[in-house]
Amino acid sequence: MSEQRTFRFHKAELKFLGAAGEVTGSKTLVKAHNKNILVDCGLFQGEKTSKEQNWAPLPDELKQIDAILITHAHLDHCGYLPRLVRMGYCGPVYCSPGTRDLMKVILMDSAHIQEEDAEFANRSGYSHHKPAEPLYTIQDVQQTLPLIKALPLKIWQTVVPGVEVSLSRTGHIIGSTAMRLKVKCAEKDCLITFSGDVGHGRQETIKGPDALPDTDLLILESTYGDRVHSNQVALDCLEEVLKRIQNNGGVLVIPSFAVGRAQEVLFLIRLLEDQKRISPIPVILDSPMSTEATKIYLDHPEDHPPNLSFEKKSRNFYPNRFELIRNTQESIEVANRKGPLVIISASGMLQGGRVLHHLKTRLPDERNAVLFVGYQAEGTKGWFLKNQGKIEGVLRIHHEPVPVRASIESIESLSAHGDCNDLLNWIRSASHPPQQVLLNHGVPSASKALAKKIEQELNIKATAVE
Ligand SMILES: [Zn+2]
Repeated sequence: MSEQRTFRFHKAELKFLGAAGEVTGSKTLVKAHNKNILVDCGLFQGEKTSKEQNWAPLPDELKQIDAILITHAHLDHCGYLPRLVRMGYCGPVYCSPGTRDLMKVILMDSAHIQEEDAEFANRSGYSHHKPAEPLYTIQDVQQTLPLIKALPLKIWQTVVPGVEVSLSRTGHIIGSTAMRLKVKCAEKDCLITFSGDVGHGRQETIKGPDALPDTDLLILESTYGDRVHSNQVALDCLEEVLKRIQNNGGVLVIPSFAVGRAQEVLFLIRLLEDQKRISPIPVILDSPMSTEATKIYLDHPEDHPPNLSFEKKSRNFYPNRFELIRNTQESIEVANRKGPLVIISASGMLQGGRVLHHLKTRLPDERNAVLFVGYQAEGTKGWFLKNQGKIEGVLRIHHEPVPVRASIESIESLSAHGDCNDLLNWIRSASHPPQQVLLNHGVPSASKALAKKIEQELNIKATAVE
């Protein structure tokens, strides 16, 4: 393990076991009072070499965990949990009520995909492992769920003897929270806060982050640490793309993360229709998990923006001509549908899932468009299509070359992550600035750029974890 990934802070030791110099696999071990607490338990995603880390033998550090804290339900923060349980973990997993509810859906879906992929690999002979095995199964998830314990926000709770935690909202997705740890000490307690992923308060469907609570050490994400989101208005961009599709009878494919982004996009399309800026357009949601996640969104009004009550007007959430795909057969039949039409499907970074089938059908037609609405990690198929698709003119899907004639668009301002100014402002929102900041969850250029800004503009010691 690189020394740069181990840090000592008063009576605690921190070891970054993932999301160090990259954006996936979030896992940080906190050792204090002879106990081990794991903050986030994420899957590595993206390039093959990155994903292979999920299969590595369990490092010794992960064999003696006393408690786990999960900041939010995205797979790169919680998706390794069933694997850890499969390998013997049976302690508590603490998170917010929203995260608990979303995790049930997300982990089940993840296990389902793992099982399907292994089965497909065995049938087609793709795998080097004989027989191919899933990373974890639905049964592993069933054993994981009873370990999850939801905590109320902003109340100190004991995690292990000598360490307490308090959760506060970060406005990234439903249930997303920062984890503030209080490590008890005879002289003075020490406060260490993990941001998880931080939102920015400009999403229509989720409340912005709470002020950063006072903390001595802050571990801060830096996904967009070197970028300022364009000030394009998401609604205007979406209107322009939808009008184009309506005029030329094309099909718009929106690869979307099932949780958070899909709900925001559905809501924005409905808003454009209500404001009579577009005429109602058929919108197909082909992601069973998004459907489940939308129900959970509606169940957690504590995270909705104050001026919007989905409980009272939940119908407004869906576009007027909204259709839900319920099974694989219906999904296959979408290929025969003519435009104008919008298809929202997962996965958001084209790492797999039904969206690949829709792209295979729609990419070769120049009347169509693909709209990216979220972060594309380097090495993913989504990153390639967004940055190289038009240049190369071809995208490989399921080992076949598919011509890229559809237009490739993106709306950066729909991101659920704050940009570098948002993150600086979040630090400023604390009533007392932290003594030190460690930057994780970012490519090295992003983490280093944010570290420099924090030192220059806020005069706080900041280090990029690599
Ligand atoms: Zn996230």
